[in-house]
Amino acid sequence: MLVNATKMLNDALKGHYAIGHFNINNLEWTKQVLLASEEMKSPVILGVSEGAGKYMCGFKTVAAMVKAAVEDLKITVPVALHLDHGTFEGAKACIEAGFSSVMFDGSKYEINENIEKTKEIVNLAHSKGISVEAEVGAIGGEEDGVKGNGEFADPIECKNLLATGIDFLAAGIGNIHGVYPEGWPGLNFDRLALIKKEIGDTPLVLHGGTGIPADQIQKSISLGVSKINVNTECQLAFADATRKYIEAGKDKEKKGFDPRKLLAPGAEAIKEKVKEKILLFGSNNKV
Ligand SMILES: [Zn+2]
Repeated sequence: MLVNATKMLNDALKGHYAIGHFNINNLEWTKQVLLASEEMKSPVILGVSEGAGKYMCGFKTVAAMVKAAVEDLKITVPVALHLDHGTFEGAKACIEAGFSSVMFDGSKYEINENIEKTKEIVNLAHSKGISVEAEVGAIGGEEDGVKGNGEFADPIECKNLLATGIDFLAAGIGNIHGVYPEGWPGLNFDRLALIKKEIGDTPLVLHGGTGIPADQIQKSISLGVSKINVNTECQLAFADATRKYIEAGKDKEKKGFDPRKLLAPGAEAIKEKVKEKILLFGSNNKV
């Protein structure tokens, strides 16, 4: 059974740790993220982008696969299935398809339109017990004329978006999606404190987790970040392990071409990466 992400994130905020949101791409990803979380006794959020949903046949397939995997693997830790950076239509489709949590990313809209659309998704989702994440638009990847500082959210806009009844909020504090440019000054903890002051006890979400130094991750958790999105790092770990297997010629030894053998090192690498992140975020033994 899937749960929404509200309780696990509120518990994380109170307990000063963060829950990992791990993006999944296929059955191997799903299985390894679930097994790692079970082993670590950590609640977990499985994130699915619209692109990944499409890749896996569609949102219904994803929901059915994740629910069945939780059952077949006898997973006992709380598991949420969450749409990542959803469009308005995508969020509605996932609410229908059986996801337990959705992000509506209206950050590209002007704030009033973002609020209006977010409110509609909240009403729809909450009527089915589904949690909602929303995002405040970045006020430019440029501040004080310096590029590459990352995205920053306006604390007052954060407060206004919160009034829609969302369960957790994504707000830029200098983080960047993908690879961080050289000379990136790091997370802006002053901005984080200003946002925190406006939003009180609502869990904050940190996107773009790949490449943020561990000490900054831990400091952000101590200041109110309760959900951290991890995507690129698992992809890199999987690709690296798979390349090593093929470069060593193992696919040409005996039945090394069998996909269950070929994909095994990559799958193991995902599992190890997830366990490493769970330890860093402090969500182990929190069920
Ligand atoms: Zn993101």
